[in-house]
Amino acid sequence: MIVVLEPQATETQIEDIIRVLHDHGFDVHRSTGVQHVVLGAIGVHPEFDHRQIQVLDGVSEVVRITEPYKLSSRAFNRQGSVFTIAGVPIGGPEVVVMAGPCSVENEVQIFTIAEKVAHAGARFLRGGAFKPRTSPYAFQGMGPDGLKLLRKAADAFKLGVITEVMEKDQIALVAEYADILQVGARNMQNYSLLRDLGRTSKPVMLKRGQSATIDEWLMAAEYVLAGGNQQVLLCERGIRTFETSTRNTMDIGAIPVIKKKSHLPIIADPSHGIGIRDKVVPMARAAVAAGADGLMVEVHHDPDHAKSDGAQSLYPDQFENMMLEVKVIVEAIGRKMA
Ligand code: PEP
Ligand code: MN
Repeated sequence: MIVVLEPQATETQIEDIIRVLHDHGFDVHRSTGVQHVVLGAIGVHPEFDHRQIQVLDGVSEVVRITEPYKLSSRAFNRQGSVFTIAGVPIGGPEVVVMAGPCSVENEVQIFTIAEKVAHAGARFLRGGAFKPRTSPYAFQGMGPDGLKLLRKAADAFKLGVITEVMEKDQIALVAEYADILQVGARNMQNYSLLRDLGRTSKPVMLKRGQSATIDEWLMAAEYVLAGGNQQVLLCERGIRTFETSTRNTMDIGAIPVIKKKSHLPIIADPSHGIGIRDKVVPMARAAVAAGADGLMVEVHHDPDHAKSDGAQSLYPDQFENMMLEVKVIVEAIGRKMA
């Protein structure tokens, strides 16, 4: 941490600031410039809140130079992590596609969609059995029956399964059927859920919270990693901004930023990211061009009658086209489809 002092900071104030830093366990290196005194506070204290220094008299600016996250930081694994999940490498040169409905609704629905997405080249079947709905009156998912159908349909078409786990008590059940446990945006900071997921051996895909900064998101990943579970995927799914023309604002910029800050694979979800069917494919193309290691896309054979998120679900033929377009981009940037 670098502490830049105000030009008019007094010697007494400077000594007080140095004492506080020492009390918190930092080694302090003082540099007296023409305009400012700058203090370099050296030490690794991940839980330290730098605002404690920011509020002291005489302090102009505090710049953190050591990220609070360690296990999710790129410094932890410079080459980037590659996880092989259900036989599919994620995070290497391959770009993986996960697709399926927002919710599992019934056997015919999930089998119809699984066949279509598998045929088009998806490697994972997605679909919620437990749904975090904004309204308590909206469809809440099929529960355990949905998990069974999801697994059955995925197995029939040689796909992996990714599905959401909403509560600690569901982890064991969902882990029986899923290859990847999805943590939804609304649960990104549910630390007790994250801690328990850290104790499982199943890969976890952590969606970005609706209003989470990239650093908050990486700190949430840190909870899972700190518990001993090393297989964490991040998923950019759009954030809430002042813009109302789209459901969320797809933060494409987060993709290269994550690539720089973290070694964890990054998946992009253009369906929730933009929330409008005809704009999902352009966002999918952009995400891959920006360096995403994979896509998660909602697809429905009859979106007008979908129980959730029909308006952002692609028709199977749109998905097939998307796959062809994405492949061109993937190859243009020296990668290949998983
Ligand atoms: C989903 O993937 O269907 C979902 C609920 O996503 P999110 O948590 O990003 O809203
Ligand atoms: Mn959805």
